[in-house]
Amino acid sequence: MGAGITGLWQSLILAQNGYSVRLIERSPKPFAQASSIYAGAMLAPYCEAETALPVVKKLGIKSLELWRKHFPETVFNGSLVVAHDRDKGEIDRFARFTDGHRYVDRKEISNLEPDLSEQFQEALFYENEGHVDPEVALPRLLEAAEQAGVSAEFGVEDFAPPAASVTIDCRGLAAQDVLQTLRGVRGERAIIRISEIELARPVRLLHPRFPLYIVPWSENRFMVGATVIEREDAHPPSVRSTLELLSSAYALNPAFGEAEILDLSAGVRPAFEDNCPRIILDNQRIYVNGLYRHGFLMAPALATLVERYLTSGEKDSEIIVEDRSQW
Ligand SMILES: Cc1cc2nc3c(=O)[nH]c(=O)nc-3n(C[C@H](O)[C@H](O)[C@H](O)COP(=O)(O)OP(=O)(O)OC[C@H]3O[C@@H](n4cnc5c(N)ncnc54)[C@H](O)[C@@H]3O)c2cc1C
Repeated sequence: MGAGITGLWQSLILAQNGYSVRLIERSPKPFAQASSIYAGAMLAPYCEAETALPVVKKLGIKSLELWRKHFPETVFNGSLVVAHDRDKGEIDRFARFTDGHRYVDRKEISNLEPDLSEQFQEALFYENEGHVDPEVALPRLLEAAEQAGVSAEFGVEDFAPPAASVTIDCRGLAAQDVLQTLRGVRGERAIIRISEIELARPVRLLHPRFPLYIVPWSENRFMVGATVIEREDAHPPSVRSTLELLSSAYALNPAFGEAEILDLSAGVRPAFEDNCPRIILDNQRIYVNGLYRHGFLMAPALATLVERYLTSGEKDSEIIVEDRSQW
């Protein structure tokens, strides 16, 4: 249940491993009610380790292989982390909390990202990270799942699972009806378009108050994101957040000032208390939820954990839990 990034990867991996899969989604239009459509969607296990638990990095690295294998369009150009000279200490702090990076100087920055060479003296380069454009990746994953034999049904409100089937519940925040510790974390973003600037990879701009990032998508579009606010509404971004988002693009390169604004919107990330995902076993139902800022990063690896559990009973002790009433 649920055709966001979690449900799509579950369906694909299970169908490819010989299971008969129905994918049930309540929204008539694919992805219209999924938080997944708001994602960056960076695949950044090393950078995210700055704040995430170690298991996120471990499973994220596993997911990179799966993206490479099942979605050849995934871009693996790494990520760049920059800060203005006055915030240089932020670079060293970020470097201390993460690995998989190397320091690059102005010359190398201009090789990697010619359009940023004027602004930054030093950066961190995480060469093994990737990213996708969610507006391309989500429909392609759905297509791949259908080709693997998944029957996808949209606009299904009340689904009664047939006896002797297993339901994998990937309803994101809607599973709050059962999972009482699940909360929503609002993320605001802007999508802008400009043909005069090119970036090959996501760039994170460190700042003591509002660290933000910009992800290059197809057709000269850039996703500028994202705020992290402990609220569950998806109202349009506030003026303050919009100023912060757009200022960070402008700070990366003032030429972004000429970009068209295509979209200003907010999504709500499903998260447990420790911002770490869980696979929760509950008789014939398995909940896969709490992917927080890491839905694209974690969904492939979580799908293989569920497949292994169903096939061989193997339980990853860090992620798979059994007492649903605790969650
Ligand atoms: C601004 C922003 C930026 C982000 N950037 C990144 C990033 O760079 N990298 C990254 O890895 N992650 C990122 N994320 C996080 C990522 O988007 C989430 O972790 C992910 O979307 C969670 O996916 P999901 O499939 O679990 O939930 P959802 O995408 O919300 O999907 C749940 C689906 O279940 C459906 N559903 C609900 N109830 C029912 C029902 N009763 N029956 C059937 N279907 C139902 C819903 O309609 C929905 O389609 C970002 C999120 C936001 C908001």
